[in-house]
Amino acid sequence: MNQHIHCIVSDCHYYEQGNKCVANEILVSTDNFAIEQPDHIDANIAKKLTPASAAGNCMSTACKTYVTKGSKKINDEGVTRMS
Ligand code: SF4
Repeated sequence: MNQHIHCIVSDCHYYEQGNKCVANEILVSTDNFAIEQPDHIDANIAKKLTPASAAGNCMSTACKTYVTKGSKKINDEGVTRMS
């Protein structure tokens, strides 16, 4: 599958010029899940996670894989940059 993820969150480690996400995988979750779960619960174990209950609207969803550029937590998710 040739997937393109467009993103405008420019302070993310996986953001690249042209509004592209260059993470090899991401996890989108509800806001509550993203807030409650630690950084290592992310795309690398996504297949094992229980699907969340309904979000209800887009404001209640989040990119769990987001990590601030330069953060010491960059390696916590087990996700890599593709470029
Ligand atoms: S990991 Fe999430 S927030 Fe970061 S660039 Fe990709 S889609 Fe955007």
